Amino acid sequence: MTNQPFPHMLEPLDLGFTTLKNRVIMGSMHTGLEDRFWQMDKLAAYFAERAKGGAALVVTGGYNPNKRGWFYPSASLFNSYLDIPNHRKVTRAVHKEGGKIALQILHAGRYSYHPFSHSASAKKAPINPFKPKEMSDRQIRSTIKDFAKTARLAKLANYDGVEVMGSEGYLINQFMAPHVNKRNDRWGGSIENRMRLPVEIVKEIRRAVGEDFIVLFRLSMMELVEGGMTASEIVETAKALESAGVTIMNTGIGWHEARVPTIVTSVPRAAFRDATARVKRELSIPVCASNRINTPEIAEDIIASGDADLVSMARPFLADPQFVNKAAENRADEINICIACNQACLDHTFELKRASCLVNPQACHETELKYIPVTNKKKVAVIGAGPAGLSASTVAAERGHDVTLFDMAHEIGGQFNYAKQIPGKEEFYEMIKYYRRRVEVSGVDLQLNTKIDTDYLEQAGYDEVIVATGINPRKPPIEGIEHEKVLSYLDVLTGAEVGKKVAVIGAGGIGFDVAEFLVHPGAKADSTPRPQSIEEWSEEWGIDFSSDNPGQLVDKRPHAPAREVFLLQRTKGQLGAGLNKTSGWVHRAVLKMKDVEMIGGVSYDKIDDEGLHITIDGKQQVLDVDNVVICAGQESRKALYVEDHASTNFHIIGGAQFAGELDAKRAIKQGAEVAAAL
Ligand code: FAD
Ligand code: NAP
Ligand code: SF4
Repeated sequence: MTNQPFPHMLEPLDLGFTTLKNRVIMGSMHTGLEDRFWQMDKLAAYFAERAKGGAALVVTGGYNPNKRGWFYPSASLFNSYLDIPNHRKVTRAVHKEGGKIALQILHAGRYSYHPFSHSASAKKAPINPFKPKEMSDRQIRSTIKDFAKTARLAKLANYDGVEVMGSEGYLINQFMAPHVNKRNDRWGGSIENRMRLPVEIVKEIRRAVGEDFIVLFRLSMMELVEGGMTASEIVETAKALESAGVTIMNTGIGWHEARVPTIVTSVPRAAFRDATARVKRELSIPVCASNRINTPEIAEDIIASGDADLVSMARPFLADPQFVNKAAENRADEINICIACNQACLDHTFELKRASCLVNPQACHETELKYIPVTNKKKVAVIGAGPAGLSASTVAAERGHDVTLFDMAHEIGGQFNYAKQIPGKEEFYEMIKYYRRRVEVSGVDLQLNTKIDTDYLEQAGYDEVIVATGINPRKPPIEGIEHEKVLSYLDVLTGAEVGKKVAVIGAGGIGFDVAEFLVHPGAKADSTPRPQSIEEWSEEWGIDFSSDNPGQLVDKRPHAPAREVFLLQRTKGQLGAGLNKTSGWVHRAVLKMKDVEMIGGVSYDKIDDEGLHITIDGKQQVLDVDNVVICAGQESRKALYVEDHASTNFHIIGGAQFAGELDAKRAIKQGAEVAAAL
């Protein structure tokens, strides 16, 4: 064991009746493929890929035990014998690859998006327009039976186990927490009564499936909502669940309605390990840690330190299905690290779109986006080593083409080199690191410091040219735009001196990011990642790991802003409305915490020695700022693209093709798709 990399993470775990081949669980994620029976083949291919990549146990997205518990009408339901053949496609595919699979059972309670939802009490969730009805005693008892029935069906469909979803604010959590459970019968009041629902569910499931079947319970180890369970109530519940028959205790953190981020990229890695460790110390069954664990080094450290027996990673398996195998083969530097952006996974789920991954567009599209080896090797030039060009060049080279990748800059990454310097976006360094290695491994000929022009492309005789030259920042036609106070976001993020009072023109993703950079004490434009420590971060967000307060929330203590910043846009209404669904609220909350003044409905009159002259609702005023930073969108650089050429095929991707609504997700996906078709 000693010569093996990551010996604790890769050590098998004997559960008595079965053995997990290592300590890595792929956590549950709703991908959208679960909802439709005709997509079961795609779902099977998706899970099989992760089992093949070494995950010891994969957990499905949540399946609802009855229609009341639906996420939304016609979402994933598993309560009929007729569903078994479809599920067998999935379990067969996973077992063929040597893996194990558990089905997650989830009742959404007051998070169900339909008018017939029910919950512990008739209390509406702040994130759902539908008010639930209070469940009767009979409905509670029949729901317990429904959980057990789904578990029995799962066993018949050859699943190796089930996971009971008891966290994230869903039904079971709603019963456990006093701020939703206002009952005064045997299901409410004392902690013994509030935990009765999960305990009875586990006992009933155990009766239905017997002893030799894995029962995971996803317990809310930290509630992060006012009136949530206390730390001691959580430990007490965990002990009762162990006695009721749970095989592995898994970690859930926070409720969906919590106003503390739990998985976005600015949450420090393994931020919640202490919450899991506290429960682990009190139990004798294996306990699994989760949330913001995205490298084998962190997973190893958590298990080696004794904070948990296993780790659950969900999004990291979208980013790289081969995570465990690469770690085991001493190829950890080839792992495509999840950057916790949520852009293609959770944001898609909340938009009712199929999930995928920004850094791996094959995720959940395994049967559709294939990188097939070629027999007709072509000479390919890719111009631009931003996300689009990196993706295109590496896929083309892996398929067997002879690829040269050019960039006029001295490093790869394009605009991601600016993104990675934003406080809270340090994970973006990982994507550049990953591509640096993948370029080497795939045999792409990388030519940096090389500006390509049309004459070169005319003479060089490439079969295929992929133009991925990205964008130029837009310079809006405002009087005084050449004034010395004016800086572009590129100036700021490459080290320009910025005064203490600043106006930012443009409140898109980049405007928000630049405002965050400007207010953050210690933010610097260089190549050093400076992630916040868990202590600094939890202080800012008002989390106290050692407290026994309900929800473990205390007053937020934000650090003083480094500058006074005005963030402006011409459109009226809330700023940041176009930011990503699951992370936009965090950016808005951070800027509010740092007293950034966010103003919509602004017209820009001029910039001069006095500052920025603006008009709002017909009233003129001057913001007497030291600098005006322009973040007013971008324009494509497409000069190298030739539509019709006699001997070379030209393709154009990423920002070069279309600058509006461009993000790295589109850039990487387009690059992969173009290269997969060469
Ligand atoms: P680029 O990244 O612009 O790369 C183009 C490359 O082409 C450059 O390296 C350039 O040097 C090279 N090039 C151009 N012309 C030539 C030539 N003639 N010869 C040789 N080389 C040439 N996106 C997200 O999805 N999520 C985010 O959170 C996010 N945050 C961001 C934060 C900031 C501060 C910034 C600036 C951007 C952010 N983005 C984010 C946007 C994302 O970085 C871009 O969408 C993405 O980089 C576009 O990729 P691209 O490959 O099309 O172009
Ligand atoms: P953007 O989102 O299109 O925002 C451009 C901003 O500039 C808008 O606020 C717009 O608002 C303003 N603007 C546009 N034209 C203007 C003009 N002529 N004069 C003055 N203001 C003008 O673009 P971006 O912020 O440059 O971001 C580029 C892309 O990077 C985005 O599409 C985004 O997807 C991606 N990105 C994503 C993230 C993320 O967290 N996911 C972060 C950063 C960047 P008004 O028109 O109302 O003034
Ligand atoms: Fe991770 Fe972003 Fe991919 Fe989601 S989309 S799995 S958060 S890298």
